[in-house]
Amino acid sequence: MTRIAIIGAGPSGMAQLRAFQSAKSKGLQVPEIVCFEKQNDWGGLWNYTWRTGVDEHGEAVHGSMYRYLWSNGPKEALEFADYTFDEHFKKPIASYPPRAVLWDYIKGRVEKAGVKDQVRFNTAVHHVEFNADTGQFTVQVCDHTENQIYSEQFDYVIVASGHFSTPKVPEYEGFNIFNGRILHAHDFRDAVQFKDKTVLIVGSSYSAEDVGSQCYKYGAKQIYSCYRSQPMGYKWPTNWAEKQHLLRVDENTAYFGDGSSAKVDAIILCTGYLHHFPFMTEDLKLKTHNCLYPESLYQGVVWENNPKLFYLGMQDQWYTFNMFDAQAWYVRDIILGQIELPEQEEMQAHSQAWIKRESKIKNSEQMVKFQGEYIKQLIAETDYPSFNIDAVNEVFMQWKKHKKDNIMGFRDKTYRSVMTGKMSKPHHTPWLYALDDSLEAYLDSENREQRVI
Ligand code: FAD
Ligand code: NAP
Repeated sequence: MTRIAIIGAGPSGMAQLRAFQSAKSKGLQVPEIVCFEKQNDWGGLWNYTWRTGVDEHGEAVHGSMYRYLWSNGPKEALEFADYTFDEHFKKPIASYPPRAVLWDYIKGRVEKAGVKDQVRFNTAVHHVEFNADTGQFTVQVCDHTENQIYSEQFDYVIVASGHFSTPKVPEYEGFNIFNGRILHAHDFRDAVQFKDKTVLIVGSSYSAEDVGSQCYKYGAKQIYSCYRSQPMGYKWPTNWAEKQHLLRVDENTAYFGDGSSAKVDAIILCTGYLHHFPFMTEDLKLKTHNCLYPESLYQGVVWENNPKLFYLGMQDQWYTFNMFDAQAWYVRDIILGQIELPEQEEMQAHSQAWIKRESKIKNSEQMVKFQGEYIKQLIAETDYPSFNIDAVNEVFMQWKKHKKDNIMGFRDKTYRSVMTGKMSKPHHTPWLYALDDSLEAYLDSENREQRVI
């Protein structure tokens, strides 16, 4: 029987499991699927851990999320087309749920599909190689429950191990003599640790914006953020100053490109992540940065040098969960023989045309539309339920405007679901004052009491 290995049971791997189950439920013959997940539960980054560094087995900790993380985009932009928020929660909820609520939502769909028995938890993939003679992959794993290393053969491998877990850590002059704490956003877990402190945030993208906002919300005394290329440019609270690039630090002071300096207690490097696949042999390893159309992946998913290998979710992400679905359904149909792949040169030429288009993009509206168009053409090839991607693009544009208007208040806005046509409900407490991020507090519509931190 044909065998498929999926590496990772985060949102991308879960989408792949659901895609095959959907085909099976329609009477199609589906290959044997084994999903290897190194953590003890599914959900990927949404499965929060307090750990940093290495886990209890000595594996690198995957989690980059932190307590009090709320969705940074409206849920209406990431809703599954085959499993709506209304179906899961049985009542309308607000547009920017906290992490635990989104984790519950993504688990709900695969629990309903009944695919958990295809996942081998606590099992880390350590090595993948392709044998040209047999046309199969050897996948070597470590089962940490049994403390056992073993290998199995597979006809297809789908890498869904994410790309926001291996921190990109720059060094600045003076870091080795700085007296305070220096950490990367990957290891940031709880903003309360920075209450009454002066914090320097390095970077100017989503982590910088959100980690800084968390520190503000939970009582940091002063925040400085510094940018390398572009300032974030929001209307920050009075105790948040945006600075030019960091030049150097000494024992307690940071020095910036505009000649100014500031005493700081801690430095949080929000400097992004590396695509890192140490378990793949060199000939199978994706080498890219955080972009919309990674090199070597036809239709963003097919490894052009060996189309029995696929990568899911490796793009920079405006769209997330429903993009992973579009990719997973597409990969499924290639494996099931319902989509025929062109010759290698044609695949490469196709990718290069998209990469060239990406290089000409000038602003975020064009990025969103580019990714929306990519998803549209994947969905057109499969039976994934079609949805109005132009309307989702519009949700992203409203979101951008709301952030520009009020960076500490955009999460209080509501949006219309493209899937159900219904408006979401305002949350019972403005985001800035909602200190309890638990599922229970969020779903309790009577809740006005907030936990004292
Ligand atoms: P991941 O979620 O990273 O899951 C990959 C899985 O693979 C993990 O379970 C991991 O344990 C497993 N794995 C890795 N290596 C191995 C191995 N060798 N062997 C076995 N298993 C392995 N997106 C949004 O839509 N909204 C948000 O608000 C949002 N917030 C974010 C906040 C942060 C701090 C970060 C870093 C990302 C955020 N994202 C957000 C984007 C996020 O990338 C996606 O939502 C989503 O989690 C990606 O899913 P994935 O399955 O591709 O990867
Ligand atoms: P990112 O978008 O890749 O941004 C990396 C940032 O680091 C950029 O500003 C970059 O600046 C800067 N940088 C890189 N190297 C640097 C260096 N050597 N010195 C100074 N600055 C440097 O990464 P991210 O912000 O970590 O976001 C990753 C993902 O996490 C995104 O998908 C985001 O949506 C998600 N996220 C979500 C939330 C949430 O609220 N739910 C919170 C955090 C993160 P340049 O522009 O100069 O390259």
